[in-house]
Amino acid sequence: MLSRGETSSEEILSSVLNRLRRVEGTLNAYVYVNEDAAVRRARALDSDGHRPRRRRPEPDAATPGRKGVLRGIPIAVKDNICTRGIPTTCASHMLEGYVPPYDATVVKRVEEAGTVLVGKCNLDEFGMGSSTEYSALGVTRNPWDPGRVAGGSSGGAAAAVSAGAAIAALGTDTGGSVRLPASFCGVTGFRPSYGCVSRYGLVAYASSMDQVGFLARDALDCAALMDAVAGPDGLDATAHPGRLEAVLDPHALEGSRVGVPVKWVEQLAAPETRRAFREAIAALERLGAETREIELPEPSFLLSTYYVLAVCEASSNLARYDGALYGARRRGTTYEETAALTRSRCFGREVRRRILLGTFALSAGYHDRYYSRAVLAREAVRGEYQQVLSRVDFIATPTAAGPAFEVGEKTDDPLSMYLEDAFTVGPSLAGLPALSLPMGFTSEGLPLGLQLVGRRFDDYRVLAAGRAYQDATAHHKARPPDRWTRRDRSRQ
Ligand code: GLN
Repeated sequence: MLSRGETSSEEILSSVLNRLRRVEGTLNAYVYVNEDAAVRRARALDSDGHRPRRRRPEPDAATPGRKGVLRGIPIAVKDNICTRGIPTTCASHMLEGYVPPYDATVVKRVEEAGTVLVGKCNLDEFGMGSSTEYSALGVTRNPWDPGRVAGGSSGGAAAAVSAGAAIAALGTDTGGSVRLPASFCGVTGFRPSYGCVSRYGLVAYASSMDQVGFLARDALDCAALMDAVAGPDGLDATAHPGRLEAVLDPHALEGSRVGVPVKWVEQLAAPETRRAFREAIAALERLGAETREIELPEPSFLLSTYYVLAVCEASSNLARYDGALYGARRRGTTYEETAALTRSRCFGREVRRRILLGTFALSAGYHDRYYSRAVLAREAVRGEYQQVLSRVDFIATPTAAGPAFEVGEKTDDPLSMYLEDAFTVGPSLAGLPALSLPMGFTSEGLPLGLQLVGRRFDDYRVLAAGRAYQDATAHHKARPPDRWTRRDRSRQ
């Protein structure tokens, strides 16, 4: 509609801001709303010849990179991605008052693509969590049922997109933080292959797995965002030097082989998830995929490997917050005292738990027993995924064992929170592209997600498969309510 001149960026933004105002008091999806600057930007884009200009007929919509497709589109950004002149808190007291002097590469690139920044979204502190309950700025709630969590750690971004308070969002995914909230909130979430998207300006949690990802209504929108931000970046040495060709083959599923770890799914997924998953597999088969049973490493093996590596890297990455350079400071009489005071007061419980675990696992005497073993285990995991993916084109699983859980249900039990990531950490360890697609609802009306994983750098093939699935199904079109009953609210 924008490119045909039937609406304007300002009009889209104002509808997004209206939704935001209506739902934000209940959901708490945003930690910062960039309203005035966004309105100015939308107006500037409109008056810059956006609206009246007649365009050439739309090229094939299967080409996500068609020029200008993101121009004028309001998007949200998870608050662990640096935005110049706009506070970036990582939902932590530690970064209170921090205003980055630079933009993350991804922010710069979406801006160049013409998007309008609506605001910054809530997350688990520094990305550590699976529910957005470990945020120092309050819990984000699920638009489908505000008594439940939005998933994490990109819960704010997923809730915002789901509720129409952003058209799409940039999130980050270390062990599932884009896919899990996408699944819980009924939106589409994509984690690219490690290295496809620059991490420059993303606040580090576990650098060997951190990736920027996308949350949107559908796979096509994820592909458009991917195309805008992916590609080499001299500021991130792990960014892959090549550029993937942004083409979505409409026949991506025809004649493809989809591997299903049947035992895994039976062992882990709740009955309603298994039913929706069976239907999703049947839909993939109707679209021409041939499914095969595969075996993957045990979920408990994947989870232990992931959580040892993640906490080790976190303890090292977070050592920089010592109350001296930036962020919060709780002053003591010596440097050591200032660092200790600042770190013990300004990091939340879960972050401190992970720093302690990571420091322990890295310390002399334990290093070989934990960290070095986890590094070897990751190599084994990579090898196994690679082997499986030499026989099949995609791996399909549910994104999570069940739907969003109740707020407070798991906060006191870190292990059960970690178990939420059983389906998502494998692709993270192996650096593979992974997509979460809405695949139906529980009898209570809560969304469920289908995860499709592909070979390294087959990102657009995975997105194309997702698009083919979404062309044939309507789960991604369902919308949550924007008014909640008194019962919902009283459960808050
Ligand atoms: N829940 C996982 C963790 O806490 C994943 C988080 C993430 O991907 N940022 O580590």
